[in-house]
Amino acid sequence: MARVLIIGAGGVGNVVAKKCAQNHAVFTDILLASRTKSKCDAIVAEIRASARTASAKIATAQVDADNVPELAALIRSFKPDLVLNVALPYQDLTIMDACLETGVNYLDTANYEPRDVAKFEYSWQWAYQKRFEEKGLMALLGCGFDPGVTNVFTAWMHKHRFDSVNTLDIVDCNAGDHGKAFATNFNPEINIREITQKGRYWKDGQWIETQPLEIHVPVDYPSVGPRESYLLYHEELESLVKHFPKISQARFWMTFGQEYIKHLTVLQNVGMTRIDPVDFQGHKVIPLEFLKALLPEPSSLGAGYTGKTCIGVQLRGSKAGMPTTHFVYNVCDHAECWQEVQAQAVSYTTGVPAMIGAALMLTGVWKGAGVFNVEQLDPDPFMTALNQWGLPWQELANVQLVH
Ligand code: NDP
Repeated sequence: MARVLIIGAGGVGNVVAKKCAQNHAVFTDILLASRTKSKCDAIVAEIRASARTASAKIATAQVDADNVPELAALIRSFKPDLVLNVALPYQDLTIMDACLETGVNYLDTANYEPRDVAKFEYSWQWAYQKRFEEKGLMALLGCGFDPGVTNVFTAWMHKHRFDSVNTLDIVDCNAGDHGKAFATNFNPEINIREITQKGRYWKDGQWIETQPLEIHVPVDYPSVGPRESYLLYHEELESLVKHFPKISQARFWMTFGQEYIKHLTVLQNVGMTRIDPVDFQGHKVIPLEFLKALLPEPSSLGAGYTGKTCIGVQLRGSKAGMPTTHFVYNVCDHAECWQEVQAQAVSYTTGVPAMIGAALMLTGVWKGAGVFNVEQLDPDPFMTALNQWGLPWQELANVQLVH
């Protein structure tokens, strides 16, 4: 039925490729392309070795996704119906440009970031609205877990549980243990840029800025227990307050262990998280890029990873004149993810929604011309698919996790 080009063969790319291969009724032809072709080949070898996916039609290719002509040539030769971008946020615009040039739909899981400034905003990608619309193409932004499923949870509760929503709190807990002193669960460079920036939340029509990790509260996560949770700025806040303008307060919380914070503080204090070039023995070195080379790859953390993630959205508002609170969440087990697709839960919870979003677009359930954030589309088929494809969700009513 449909041809998909997946770009990126890291932790998330591995999951996306394997879940697309499982969903062979929709993804009849898959091309997995990345900078390092051997990583694509290793993933495909595992797909062929698994009884569930052995018959999938999947090939691999090498591509530099910073290079629009190279991308366009690959797209023209494979002729996909959709390009699923799980490379890095730096490549979002070049891949969108190549999709426009070749007339193909687009999906990603993280907003564009310029390399030289850690800035998380949709402005660059929203600026493509007219060009996608004019070509009758659809670009779906941020279709991982957060952003992605968190946007779907918000839209679903807004549709089914509330007449009006006042506050939104996204809580993201990884209570897993990978046994390493310090490692990040997705691309280290992107992860550290995100966490070391100032915190920000939406309050009464404006953004309130905080020092990095300044505000923290204990949150009692279902299936996990209480964990200290730190207020961060996260990209889906920007699109959610735009599309649900009546929300008066929107915050994002993430858990970190004391060991993680200790390592991060030292790395910051000695300058290892800097993203500006430093002169070292006649070479220009970006400390954070060098640090990434030393840290474990996220795709290597899966074996032996134990524990669970719990990510959810709490909304407060009213229904039929009565104040109400709802919390919708997913719990995902690292070891079960490893068993199924040789990945840890952070890659899994990102890759499964990317596959689901692509399947909804390719089957015409989600359609439109222009650039979309996930909450602009009907959440119901996505909620059903989460239960089918490995990320079952649950709901708590009138229990307040965050005050
Ligand atoms: P990894 O670093 O594990 O993988 C990134 C992949 O992209 C690697 O295969 C890398 O190639 C490839 N790549 C990088 N640059 C290029 C390029 N110029 N051309 C072609 N391929 C390139 O990262 P993750 O898999 O952990 O993350 C993938 C994406 O998912 C990121 O954008 C991340 O921000 C996003 N994400 C989203 C989440 C969500 O919930 N929405 C959560 C977690 C991640 P090579 O192997 O050669 O380095």
